[in-house]
Amino acid sequence: MTISGEAHAPSYYAATAKGFIDFPTLESDARADVCIIGGGYTGLSAALHLSERGYSVVLIDANKVGWGASGRNGGQLHSAQRREQSTLEKWFGKKQAHQLFDLGEEAKALVKGLISKHDIDCDWQEGLIHAIHKPRYLDDMAREIDLLQRDYGVNDVTTLSRDDIAAALGTNAYFGGWREQSAGHLHPLNYALGLARAAHFAGARIYENTPALSVSKAGLPRVETRNGIISADTVILAGNGYLHGIDDDTESRVMHLHNFILTTEPLGLRAEALIPQREAAADSRFVVYYWRLTKDNRLLFGGGETYGQAFPKDIKAFVRPHMLKLYPQLADVKIDYAWGGTLAVTMKRLPYLRRLRTGVYTACGYSGQGVGTASFAGKLLAEAIAGENERFDVFSKLPAPPFPGGRMFRTPTLALAMTWYALRDRL
Ligand SMILES: Cc1cc2nc3c(=O)[nH]c(=O)nc-3n(C[C@H](O)[C@H](O)[C@H](O)COP(=O)(O)OP(=O)(O)OC[C@H]3O[C@@H](n4cnc5c(N)ncnc54)[C@H](O)[C@@H]3O)c2cc1C
Repeated sequence: MTISGEAHAPSYYAATAKGFIDFPTLESDARADVCIIGGGYTGLSAALHLSERGYSVVLIDANKVGWGASGRNGGQLHSAQRREQSTLEKWFGKKQAHQLFDLGEEAKALVKGLISKHDIDCDWQEGLIHAIHKPRYLDDMAREIDLLQRDYGVNDVTTLSRDDIAAALGTNAYFGGWREQSAGHLHPLNYALGLARAAHFAGARIYENTPALSVSKAGLPRVETRNGIISADTVILAGNGYLHGIDDDTESRVMHLHNFILTTEPLGLRAEALIPQREAAADSRFVVYYWRLTKDNRLLFGGGETYGQAFPKDIKAFVRPHMLKLYPQLADVKIDYAWGGTLAVTMKRLPYLRRLRTGVYTACGYSGQGVGTASFAGKLLAEAIAGENERFDVFSKLPAPPFPGGRMFRTPTLALAMTWYALRDRL
């Protein structure tokens, strides 16, 4: 069942959010060229790009815009795709790997472009470090950097030795890594709210506390809500990890899982000793650790996942031991906020963009790389709806096998597989 009518999670982001607009609830039938279900980056970016192209748009969110993963994530803007270029080359060949790389880079540029075009105040900060937690991964890293520099023209990457990374991140937990200048981090909820404002001023009609209860399976798409039916030529399913009971095909190929973040109290001058250049960082664990400083000098740290329905009762206690593995020197520091969010993954960790039937699109499954990819998916959806399919189809042709286990056993099977990989992180 879709969660509805909820306020934002009690996060650091909600506490420092700027420029909320309270959008109304849909109270009657409505008609639009395009109806978008979900007000995260996917839906908001699609609403903005479609409105700019002259389409009439209705966007509904079951809760608030930015309520989902888009308002709760680590805020890291990564390069390219979630999978390494060497893997993409092996799977799809060089040509398609290059296309995916170029589109990933465009996604990164799109986010920066949207921030600057719409004057979105979201603490954008350049610089991202990848940290290697097992010596056995160092050779793979060197080969990947070599490939990126030689074949993909990447020139903003610096390799970091064990000493370099200790100095850059204030921890001895890593054996090496690399730094990218063009990737970076932002305040994810303020970015989402900025997109919502831009879409609103471009003409999109946005409704909150308006869950889609069903979407018609044939004929012109009709979206049923509590107080009215939305008729549209096209519907976009943009509910990502929160979309339940609307489309079986999407749910069989895109699984949700929960991930958790904390922020410390402001660290003052101690912050500078941790990450002097203020980059974001993410490590090589399968259940990745990711962290950065916030604008007001807190450590924001993400680590730990659960599969299934419930969040841990005490999220601070769940995440803190992970943080202390890297930063035992922060044992005395107070944790001010801790929260969880739900993201969506595919078997291949590549996004799931599809035209499900005439007039119905789905875009989700960004596998932890949605700040750039979901924003970009919104733009590609607008292109495809306007009949420009070429770039959308680079993604829509990517394989996305269903998760094993069928409806009943998908989640337990995923939990088992993820637990195995998480165990390997420790070996
Ligand atoms: C803890 C965490 C950390 C992450 N860190 C990063 C990171 O650092 N970098 C990165 O790139 N990515 C990260 N991600 C992933 C990223 O946040 C997501 O990929 C991205 O936000 C997905 O955006 P979206 O618009 O598709 O979905 P969401 O932002 O989840 O939005 C979906 C919206 O749909 C609405 N909805 C669902 N069902 C219905 C319905 N039936 N009717 C109406 N509305 C509905 C929900 O209320 C919700 O607001 C992280 C995710 C989590 C949870």
